[in-house]
Amino acid sequence: MRGVVMYGPGDVRVVERDEPHIVEPTDAVIRLTATCICGSDLWPYRGAEPADGLPMGHEYVGVVEEVGSAVETVKPGDFVIGSFVISDGTCDICRAGYPSRCVHAQFVHGTIGTQSDRARIPYADGTLVATPGMPDDDLVPSLLAASDVLGTGWFAAVAAEAGPGKTVAVVGDGAVGLLGILAARELGAERIIAMSRHADRQALAREFGATDIVEERGDDGVARIKELTDGLGAHSVIEAVGTQESMMQAIRSTRPGGHVGYVGVSHDVQLPGDELFFSQVHLHGGPAPVRRFLPDLIDRIWKRQIDPGKVFDLELPLADAAAGYTAMDQRRAIKVLLRP
Ligand SMILES: [Zn+2]
Repeated sequence: MRGVVMYGPGDVRVVERDEPHIVEPTDAVIRLTATCICGSDLWPYRGAEPADGLPMGHEYVGVVEEVGSAVETVKPGDFVIGSFVISDGTCDICRAGYPSRCVHAQFVHGTIGTQSDRARIPYADGTLVATPGMPDDDLVPSLLAASDVLGTGWFAAVAAEAGPGKTVAVVGDGAVGLLGILAARELGAERIIAMSRHADRQALAREFGATDIVEERGDDGVARIKELTDGLGAHSVIEAVGTQESMMQAIRSTRPGGHVGYVGVSHDVQLPGDELFFSQVHLHGGPAPVRRFLPDLIDRIWKRQIDPGKVFDLELPLADAAAGYTAMDQRRAIKVLLRP
């Protein structure tokens, strides 16, 4: 089968990979209907993480072809969506709502790699969720978004305690930040401030529910958030970038007693203890427990209540994956959908 492999910074190729097979009785093998390129795939692409023969891709929707003897909740022919982290669904950590840190957790990125024709998914019951039937084709991008970017934006909004009466600020205008806006709106936030300086992303932010746009960043961005919130800062701040600047911008934009939900993959972030001490903000984040939210997110998409698939602004055949990486690296595309 074909699959995308990254051999070094800027070097992604579609190559022949081994066909997946059932190995454990808890496995499923799926044929990918759609997959995509994630903002986090750009870290190794830009040389910020090692890439030496990495099977790429961790977002996926597809049709089950085969299941192991112990799989109970999905069967051949089902259309399924899975989390970007494998989870058993049964350990104490999973049952507490943190499947992305399951005792059997395995990142799909770099191991399974779903920018491919087919994939073996371990712990199928704890990782995959079947849709009520075969989706209409126009729902596929939104269902695919649930696999990571929507689920991650949703977790960020939940971790930041977005809800009625709250002002939510969002640091980062990539797909996750934009879907954090959508999540905050769905959770009932009163006011949502998007931090973005790109006209196309601002437009999508407004469509997803942003009520205000702040173009400034860093200390200037913090000052603008305070101006908009009676000098106090936002109740809830979503951090969806992962750099020192974005993390400090998020913490400093949050009022005392407020909450930061941080989901940008952290790279060399150092938090100053004294500032953290006196900021008196709650910090919660990490790899999103997407599997916890999947049934609810699928339901909202199935009822056409939300349309997170709008973050995909470029669609390419899997064979042209390299062009998709280039487009995202140059920020010509927000998010690229790949069709095997
Ligand atoms: Zn578990």
